[in-house]
Amino acid sequence: MLLEHCGHARYVWNLAVEQHRHWKPGRRSAPGFAEQCRQLTQARAENGWLRAGSIIVQQQALKDFAQAMANSFGGTHRRPTWRRRGQGEGFRIVAVKSGDVRRLTRRVGEVKIPKVGWVRFRWSRAVPEGVKSYRVTQDTAGRWHVAFAAIPEPIPAPAAGEVVGVDRGVAVSAALSTGELLHTPALRDPEKARLLRLLRRLARAERGSKRRGRVKVAVARLKARERDRRKDWVEKTSTDLARRFGVIAVEDLKIANMTRSARGSIDAPGRNVRQKAGLNRGILANGWGRLVARLEHKAPGRVVKINLAYTSQRCSACGIVDRQARESQAAFRCRSCGYAANADVNAARNIAHAAGHAVSARGGPPLGEPMNREPQRDLLLVR
Ligand SMILES: [Zn+2]
Repeated sequence: MLLEHCGHARYVWNLAVEQHRHWKPGRRSAPGFAEQCRQLTQARAENGWLRAGSIIVQQQALKDFAQAMANSFGGTHRRPTWRRRGQGEGFRIVAVKSGDVRRLTRRVGEVKIPKVGWVRFRWSRAVPEGVKSYRVTQDTAGRWHVAFAAIPEPIPAPAAGEVVGVDRGVAVSAALSTGELLHTPALRDPEKARLLRLLRRLARAERGSKRRGRVKVAVARLKARERDRRKDWVEKTSTDLARRFGVIAVEDLKIANMTRSARGSIDAPGRNVRQKAGLNRGILANGWGRLVARLEHKAPGRVVKINLAYTSQRCSACGIVDRQARESQAAFRCRSCGYAANADVNAARNIAHAAGHAVSARGGPPLGEPMNREPQRDLLLVR
């Protein structure tokens, strides 16, 4: 039944996507939520299989689509797109009353799902009081999850609100201006070897065979394990940074743009496609976008995005831009003052300095907290 709910939600969502795809400016407006609900009622009257599903699930898919369109017009999200079977399957429930989620024991809870009834779940983290909205999903490894919508409580800034600069690296996942190098967890060597073996077996397996299906699930499980570790790392790292520092400065990267531009188009094929593709993989794999997003949730108003030129070529000690200071991917050595550091740490220090400038230009440190900042340096802030 959960799978059927997913199928219905996907079907309704895709219909909505199609309606809006064929709409062109100047024509009659594309149907809004109310009109789509009327159409849904009609479709349910005509199709027994759709009628057999839950109207709550189907209407919520329309509501989610309307929200996705609003987000896309607002410029914060991309346009909603077609959903494929087996990819990010899920549906959302907004309960009328909050009693539809309850705790049974310390580690087990249950949630009410239309046409299914009570479904148990592992109480693996705090569920906010009186929560009504939840999304049920199935990942590629075949595991079911339930997620409750809640805005986390901001983490209070420490008393001495220091500025930290965080630079995204490809070899190192994140470098801090304090000199710390953080690595996102990856698969361990035996797991990598197993993944390779499975992929080879997958290539040999006949299409549509049962064997192929089994291998696919095994591959998905391994990848899910890696994804879980990275998500966990992002949560722990963002909480840690929000607790330790007053202002967290990050480079303003447009990840979506960077990943898209590498491929280019048929008319204008991207330049250095191969190198960029490798870099993009690294950026995405490191979950940089997720880290910044979580930082903004946990430390609202304390994340500064810095748009800075030459972060990797500028010496964070004397401020000179030196193209040849980058001895290698990992090492930075200033030929002017002799400062040597890990290249990503040097960049992170530049980001922290720039944030210090940006904050003082606005009139003192934010939140009235004293800031431990190095002496003023002449840094280029590019807007
Ligand atoms: Zn220098």
